[in-house]
Amino acid sequence: MTKNRISPETLMLSLGYNAEAHQGAVKCPIFQTSTFSFRTAEEGKAFFQLAYGLRDKRPDEQFGMIYSRVNNPNLDLAEKRLAAWENADDAALFSSGMAAISSLVFTFLKPGGLLLYGAPVYGGTDHFFNHVLPCFNIQVLRFSSSDGFYDIVNMVNEHSSGTLPGLIFTEIPGNPTNSLIDIQMCRQLAEHFSVGGERPILAVDNTFLGPVFQKPLSHGADISVYSATKFIGGHSDLLAGACLGNSKLIGQLKTMRTFLGSMLDPNSSWLILRSLETLKIRMAHQAESALVVASFIKHHPMVRCIHYLGFLSKEQSDYELFKRQCGSPGSVFSFEIDGDEKMAFRFLDNLQHFKLAVSLGSTESLAEHPATMTHVDVSSEDRAAFGINERLIRLSIGLENPKDLIDDLLKAFDAAQKG
Ligand SMILES: *Cc1c(COP(=O)(O)O)cnc(C)c1O
Repeated sequence: MTKNRISPETLMLSLGYNAEAHQGAVKCPIFQTSTFSFRTAEEGKAFFQLAYGLRDKRPDEQFGMIYSRVNNPNLDLAEKRLAAWENADDAALFSSGMAAISSLVFTFLKPGGLLLYGAPVYGGTDHFFNHVLPCFNIQVLRFSSSDGFYDIVNMVNEHSSGTLPGLIFTEIPGNPTNSLIDIQMCRQLAEHFSVGGERPILAVDNTFLGPVFQKPLSHGADISVYSATKFIGGHSDLLAGACLGNSKLIGQLKTMRTFLGSMLDPNSSWLILRSLETLKIRMAHQAESALVVASFIKHHPMVRCIHYLGFLSKEQSDYELFKRQCGSPGSVFSFEIDGDEKMAFRFLDNLQHFKLAVSLGSTESLAEHPATMTHVDVSSEDRAAFGINERLIRLSIGLENPKDLIDDLLKAFDAAQKG
């Protein structure tokens, strides 16, 4: 990293776009086209040779536009700007977070391979790993945030019948209870499971804190994975996913994406460009409000406990890791209401400003019930192990005035209690 590197928030207004080449349009136009005409057949041949890796790129040569499943100016620009947030070589955008995760797995694992992951993960990811991958003869082993390096090594040695992991996947912080896993320890695991110079790929789902407050690549991850539907998109008006990393790995992912057809469309890519301009101020402001809201409800008699990273105390094991790995507690947290499912539902039904909806990281505040909504597909034993019980409520703090959000929560607590 060079010392005078321009900040990502500055780059979001200019990087990779030349207004003069587009009639002075300050914003990049939307290239709503499926295909691109070549000036000559010779040019078409040259573009295809590059896109299919049939020859090396000449130093000054650009990838020419061919077809929007392969590349598109909006997609390329959004990827270039997204990569800047983690100082990554490159990024690949996908049609959803799940498209990013499934494309990642199919790029780096083959039948007979082994996936090692840190639980809990997002419900859709959990289902894909445990119910889809076994049908493709991919073995899946998992560890939990409380397992140390040697627990995990021993578990893998015991259960993997000699196969070494090809991909290690974690989600940090864990959803919905904000459990933490040490990325550096995962990198040591990847090194440990290397054979003949081949190291498992380490991917971190960084949806909750990144890319502003957590940068997995700088802690030893190979790929940062995102549901860009959440903070990166940030307005609950699009679905997208992303992977960031070095040119080689992202190149492999883009090749697989061409054949799975899981790329992002031009219109959503343009919306991502719009969103990237405000990413930092949105995330910073939402995190600030979350601290105000969490601090207020922490002591409410109806709140049994709260899973907010900003309340970790020096005595807790995650404290040091949080300080080292995360730049902020972020703006998504969960708490247990004092009561049963009925009480939780009455609380949720009485919210006015908080929208009763899944998803997170948007301009509007959202509230949901993980046990019956986002995590309903997780087995009941696992839900118990992860602390996802009928009392748990997850909040995502948006851009409303935190005073109004606190009022909203207080009124809903009152109404829930009255029954
Ligand atoms: C939402 C989410 C996903 C899935 O992303 P989609 O864009 O909904 O496909 C994956 N991981 C995490 C942590 C998420 O929150």
